[in-house]
Amino acid sequence: MKIRRYKKVNRNLNFFMTNFGFRKPYQLLTDGTFCLAALNNKVNIANDIPKYLQGEVKLITTSCAIVEMENLGPKLNGALAILKNYVLHKCGHENKNIPGFKCILSMVSNGNPNHYMVCTQDRDLQEKVRSLPGVPLIFLHMKTPTLEQPSEVSVKKAHDKTSNLAQSELDKLNELKEKEGLLLYTVYCLEPVFISMITRTIKYKAVKGHRISFNCTLDLSEKVSSVKAKMLEDLKDTMVESKVQKLTYWGHISIGTAEFLGTTFLVFLSCLGACRGMQGDGMSSMHASFAAGLAVTVAIQIFAHISGAHVNPAVTLNALIVKQIGWYHLPTYLLSQVLGSLSGASLFVSVTNTKYLEIPDDGNGVCVNAIHDDLTVFQGLLVEILLSIILNLAICSSWDARNSDKLDSVSLKIGLLVVVLNLGGAVYTGASMNPCRSFGPAVLSGDYTNHWVYWIGPIVGAAIAAVTYRVLYLKNFK
Ligand SMILES: [Zn+2]
Repeated sequence: MKIRRYKKVNRNLNFFMTNFGFRKPYQLLTDGTFCLAALNNKVNIANDIPKYLQGEVKLITTSCAIVEMENLGPKLNGALAILKNYVLHKCGHENKNIPGFKCILSMVSNGNPNHYMVCTQDRDLQEKVRSLPGVPLIFLHMKTPTLEQPSEVSVKKAHDKTSNLAQSELDKLNELKEKEGLLLYTVYCLEPVFISMITRTIKYKAVKGHRISFNCTLDLSEKVSSVKAKMLEDLKDTMVESKVQKLTYWGHISIGTAEFLGTTFLVFLSCLGACRGMQGDGMSSMHASFAAGLAVTVAIQIFAHISGAHVNPAVTLNALIVKQIGWYHLPTYLLSQVLGSLSGASLFVSVTNTKYLEIPDDGNGVCVNAIHDDLTVFQGLLVEILLSIILNLAICSSWDARNSDKLDSVSLKIGLLVVVLNLGGAVYTGASMNPCRSFGPAVLSGDYTNHWVYWIGPIVGAAIAAVTYRVLYLKNFK
């Protein structure tokens, strides 16, 4: 199971355990629709669900649910056979059975005293269950079991409960704090405010103005800890993760080397691919476009999990705006990218015969991005801005936590996207979209014609894309 999925289940389970007293083995109140879906999708309920919930389960049904399945005819015999294996809990309708969904609802109403989790594919029943506080809902999404996140009424109920406890606990904590001289913080509700796909961390903010301390010692009295045990588990995780978040010396070195090498490879490979002298006069712009795009693939494939493989100051700015990185990351990223840019261009120059590097009187330096003669500088600038907007929107989407299940081959996807942008934009401006792609070659060839365009264009484009994405798509998303 993916780590994100694992954490999500745990978070949801913890919520029900802390606030509604759920315990293992979980009691799964199952209806025929769930068994049918499991059968059709070849899901082994007794095997897969405990794995998913990471704990023993007790599979339970009612006589009403079974009678309903029997009445629906032989087509459902397979699902019926599964359901009949489950423990029968008395629902009180044994003499006069009622429809399955009504029966299950009657079992979980009045505060769900038996701590049932309802397993159903029946949309109407699901909707009704969501309106009852403290009733977890499990369904199959194709083959995948899903424990739905707590419904609004459950969250509200839990919040009301905690608010009532807050004052007495707060007093108790303050008392303890003075007595033990320990730094103690109550965390009533943790709200994720910072989700980073790169460092795989979630930073929480405590609601009600309580600051989370990352190095406090938690030593709570038995009573308090029993109420808040699960919350504090969560807080401990936060502490560990936040230590990772604060970059250590080695953290800077690994990010710095990754960005340096990534940018070096990007510039080196792009320049090799764009060197007409070596590739021959028949070289098409398509050749250079693929070389530039797939060089991005190389950098992402090797370094994305280390530093995010920005290899581009504009992308780093984007990452800062959408909170993928913090301010304290910035110097490391920028410095290594600029050095990588120079190193990539130097490597290219050192392996290429000088006769191919000479700048013709009316031409541009080899591998130096230039605006087409038939365009004005401002048209060139606009092209760089527009291409950078598209590139950076795509990058934002690849960072979006909602996209975490579509990260396969992300290096290829972004690489091909850069190919597309190059296929169109290369003849216009060289489709740089990256100040570091342009900087090294400009320095090495001494050709700074319109060089500012290749800084301003990508940076403005990245900022527009990042702000747009953040305001339109991230604002209300947690
Ligand atoms: Zn019943």
